[in-house]
Amino acid sequence: MADSMYWAAPCKECSGMVGYRDVRYILDARGVRTQETLPEGIIERRCDHCGAAGVFALQRLRPTSVKFLVPKLP
Ligand SMILES: [Zn+2]
Repeated sequence: MADSMYWAAPCKECSGMVGYRDVRYILDARGVRTQETLPEGIIERRCDHCGAAGVFALQRLRPTSVKFLVPKLP
């Protein structure tokens, strides 16, 4: 899918976004697709842009287009 969405948070060291994992969707009883909500928790992730490790609260992650996660090619 071209428009895959990832849970991501802004890197503390650069302007890049740090990705966690893909956003999953839930079908309710009426067949309506709703976005999952993340539980409370903490993750540690390394930024693909600058390499800095950071700790992020799951509650602060936002669905982000995958194109913001991948470092731009020169
Ligand atoms: Zn960074």
